[in-house]
Amino acid sequence: MLSLSAEGILPRIDYAIFADTGWEPKAVYSHLDRIQREIAEPAGIPVLRVATGNIRKDALDPAHRFASMPLYILNKDGRPGMTRRQCTGEYKIKPIKKQVREILGYPYPERIPKGIFVEQWVGISTDEFHRAKDADVAYMHNRHPLILDMDWSRADCTSYLESRGLADTPKSSCLGCPFHGNQQWRNIRDHSPEEWADVVAFDAAIRAGNARANASGNPLLGQAFLHRSRVPLDQAPIDHVTAREWAQRQAALDTHAAGERLKELEDGVADGCSPWACRGDQQQPEQEQGDFGLTA
Ligand code: SF4
Repeated sequence: MLSLSAEGILPRIDYAIFADTGWEPKAVYSHLDRIQREIAEPAGIPVLRVATGNIRKDALDPAHRFASMPLYILNKDGRPGMTRRQCTGEYKIKPIKKQVREILGYPYPERIPKGIFVEQWVGISTDEFHRAKDADVAYMHNRHPLILDMDWSRADCTSYLESRGLADTPKSSCLGCPFHGNQQWRNIRDHSPEEWADVVAFDAAIRAGNARANASGNPLLGQAFLHRSRVPLDQAPIDHVTAREWAQRQAALDTHAAGERLKELEDGVADGCSPWACRGDQQQPEQEQGDFGLTA
């Protein structure tokens, strides 16, 4: 959308905002630098980088309130669960709203008069029109130009990026996001040993829950994992879908849903953490979601 706007195909935007969780892959930060330098700056579009902290550091800091990531839990009695996802709200939506209020001239907690709002573009393509949602505040009106103005599918977006020399656009998400599919985990392991060591170390560090909950005598009654198999990441079956997993999925789901589920296992949750367009909350409905003492 930034490039379409810079080219004049879409109307000129006033700002582009990047919400930084502090733990994106190196490739995302380099790409951001590149599009800022090559596309945004020549077009006079400011790129605002906003943040509320560093998600990795905060999760391991006993003194910090932990906005829970969607971790996979194995309870003591063997029941699987997931922690509620609070991180998108804390590390993405919150700093974006703060920035938007400042742009409008009404920093929190000032009341924003009725009728004062920004138009916020959210990049959802036609294949996922059902994810197009309104913002939850009156001072932001969501618009989805890839659907409304361009009528573009994901493939159309990819072709456009290729035509502009941006074929290597990486997917933005935290390096250790539990929404990753096996393909993303393999990609980190096989192409970025340093980042793999980083996520494996983080996975081990959150096994007993978050640092603050443990420090305050509210330990996790079970174990937490980044990979959906609930196995330590460096031993998780990221190279293939096991026959058992396949059989379990087949038994539990109808054919179409099983296919979707297996795709997700490989590719991850599609755009799992896109603010205002997240499917993540609908994942694994068969599993209990809760705080598991992790949200101290
Ligand atoms: S990318 Fe994953 S871990 Fe990071 S904020 Fe989004 S849901 Fe949370």
